[in-house]
Amino acid sequence: MHAKIPVGILGATGMVGQRFIQLLEHHPWFEVTWLGASERSEGKPYAEAAKWRMKTAMPKHIASMMVSSAEPKGAPKLVLAALDSKAAAHIEPKFVEAGHILVSNSAALRMDADVPLVIPEVNAGHLKLVESKKAAGKGFAVTNPNCSTIGLVMALSPLQQKFGLESIFVVTMQAISGAGYPGVASWDILGNVVPYISNEEEKMEAESRKLLGDLGDGEISMADFRISAQCNRVAVEDGHTESVAIKLRRKASAEEILAAWREFRPLDGLHLPSAPPQPVIYETRPDRPQPRFDVDAGKGMATVVGRLRPCSLLDWKFTVLSHNTIRGAAGAALLNAEIMKAQGYLG
Ligand code: NAP
Repeated sequence: MHAKIPVGILGATGMVGQRFIQLLEHHPWFEVTWLGASERSEGKPYAEAAKWRMKTAMPKHIASMMVSSAEPKGAPKLVLAALDSKAAAHIEPKFVEAGHILVSNSAALRMDADVPLVIPEVNAGHLKLVESKKAAGKGFAVTNPNCSTIGLVMALSPLQQKFGLESIFVVTMQAISGAGYPGVASWDILGNVVPYISNEEEKMEAESRKLLGDLGDGEISMADFRISAQCNRVAVEDGHTESVAIKLRRKASAEEILAAWREFRPLDGLHLPSAPPQPVIYETRPDRPQPRFDVDAGKGMATVVGRLRPCSLLDWKFTVLSHNTIRGAAGAALLNAEIMKAQGYLG
């Protein structure tokens, strides 16, 4: 029996932090030993500090664990982070400087040239960016993309590999859990659609190009497709739905596109505990995917695609759905930590 690797959770009381705790409850490799949050929560037992919003019960040993301040002192080497993005900008670098391995959800460091932005199925090779820091025994950060980018890029990656991508047009319908807790006021969202999510369109466009870019001589060259995103908040609990239109560099038939999605299983054989067996699932029913029925596919880690059809402006259009707090946040970071362990990045 090997001992489990201790992990800390930074931002443990928030929506994504709670998801981390839920996903780690029976994890075979990692064990939560430290929780950090703001001054509001510091020094309180977790059960008192967190307004638990998961559908499963709060794990008993976590309920009584004291929440620490968001300072590196006392935290284990490996820290999974889900801090409010403004707080992350000044807190996350402190953890890296103190020698921690920070696996983060926040936008703060995602676009830094020396920080890998990773989806294991798509660009695990970008982890090489941290090799020199790891070899020197220094701390480093690895990030996962924004919750709306991840489903899109999972669907695009196999198409980019087989046919090349020229242009992408995407319109999102994003769940309220994506705005954290308490998030969007009920008065603003019930019976409504809000056609604005601060900075989301810019993040989708930039992150997609970094994720699908190439790691050349120690730096990422951004993918050269054109991408335009429009982001909307809708009254859905969990699951971001996206209407996507694409132009490919090489013509492809519907059968070839479906085969590219079906055959996209880059993590097969690695036995990562959180990896979905089929990362991109094509749903053939004409009115699917829908968040109510499909958001939990692959335990919330799969991207569900449907409605592939010709587009009269670009080449093809289709619908994408992915779980924003599992595959779009906590599950994404956890899978990053798992592939880092499998590839020797955790020491
Ligand atoms: P949230 O529910 O608002 O939680 C924020 C967390 O940050 C809480 O634990 C909070 O602690 C802590 N925090 C806030 N200000 C702090 C400060 N000054 N110092 C230390 N800790 C502080 O947000 P969330 O939805 O979980 O999102 C967390 C991060 O993940 C954000 O950067 C977000 O952009 C990103 N993200 C979220 C989603 C999603 O679907 N929700 C998806 C992808 C990425 P207290 O409870 O003590 O205030």
